[in-house]
Amino acid sequence: MKELGTTTQLVHADKSLNPQSDGAVHSPANQSVLFEFADAQGIVDAFQGKKSAHVYSRSSSSTNNSLQNVINHFEGGIGAVTFATGMAAISSVLLSLLKHGDHIIVSEFLFGNTRSFFKHLQQLGIEVSFVDVTDVHNVELAKQSNTVLVFCESLSNPMTQVADLSAIGTYCQRQQLLYIVDNTMSPSVIFSAKAALASLVISSLTKYVSGHGQVLGGSVVDTGLFDWQCYANIEPIYKVVDTTQWGLTQIRKKGLRDIGATLPAPSAATILVGMETLDLRYQKACENARKLAQHFINHPQIKSVFYPGLACHPQHYIARDHFSSYGAIMSIELPDGVDIIQLINRMKLVICATHLGDTRTLALPVAQTIYFESTQEERDRMGITNQIVRLSIGIEDIDDLLADFEQALYG
Ligand SMILES: *Cc1c(COP(=O)(O)O)cnc(C)c1O
Repeated sequence: MKELGTTTQLVHADKSLNPQSDGAVHSPANQSVLFEFADAQGIVDAFQGKKSAHVYSRSSSSTNNSLQNVINHFEGGIGAVTFATGMAAISSVLLSLLKHGDHIIVSEFLFGNTRSFFKHLQQLGIEVSFVDVTDVHNVELAKQSNTVLVFCESLSNPMTQVADLSAIGTYCQRQQLLYIVDNTMSPSVIFSAKAALASLVISSLTKYVSGHGQVLGGSVVDTGLFDWQCYANIEPIYKVVDTTQWGLTQIRKKGLRDIGATLPAPSAATILVGMETLDLRYQKACENARKLAQHFINHPQIKSVFYPGLACHPQHYIARDHFSSYGAIMSIELPDGVDIIQLINRMKLVICATHLGDTRTLALPVAQTIYFESTQEERDRMGITNQIVRLSIGIEDIDDLLADFEQALYG
């Protein structure tokens, strides 16, 4: 049989991957914290890993398992773990896999809170090199004898840099380095992190996957490409018989059970519903972004446009080779003298908010908000001027968006 289309797969995934005994088409939000064992030997076997069973919902529950199965399916992985937020996924995965004295190579173009977390890791005794990941050579130059992993985002905000995804993947494979990709801004429906040889794929489910701005969540998927026998920090007790499961076992125990940033069951159920329309929403948002970028590129009221779908974007060729659409985030730079606060205030449909991947189009002044804590020097290095507005494009009708931007730009 011909492979089913993406939306067909998405709307049927929960029902087919997680069949319910009563025929329910949705996995129910099961809120029980505890699980009764009729036979005491059963709980002993569960604790000793001889039998798989839920023992306490901080570590596992049926609703989280359902969401993990669906997310894992679309990333083509060998297993997934879900967390309370995207930041919980990032921090729990790294804290469970790193040890004092390790060196890691991370992108210098990161979601602000992720960058702040890596700075905190430095204070805990992890050596961190921030490098320009748009060229694999910078990663190669940063490699040390104690380097254990490379972390980057596929597509970064606000300046839309695209990492040298497959080249870094090939390099990490050759050097036996763990390769972690945050693909929040280019979800699985347009980009396969596994095809770019990622070992672990991290996502904030808060953004495009759930899509409607009413639930937080995060996930990590093991693509099965990394040989965990090459990773020095796996504890002997987590070296289970199946070596492919070493990484996820340690992440579940140290990252989820011990750190405890568990995704609540009602959130997991809400994310499963949102994910059914991921492709419909995301393709529409990408299409709107493409039309807006084309409209903005020669616009007399706009100085520059940062969007990887434009041939003039420095990583356009990487985006073209890896993504089936160019994403739905962009930034625009307004000419000096234009008051960007007033410009955003004039927008009637577009909402002023700090979020990404919503159904609604959002605008945010960048230097004055998410980069307020950075020094002028840091902003200069990243090309973040006071005139930049970040846009997260939604799924509204394009004519309405064009009209709203036009009246705001000429207001
Ligand atoms: C939003 C975001 C995160 C953090 O996700 P939360 O769910 O808000 O904690 C991490 N990485 C990227 C690229 C993001 O955009």
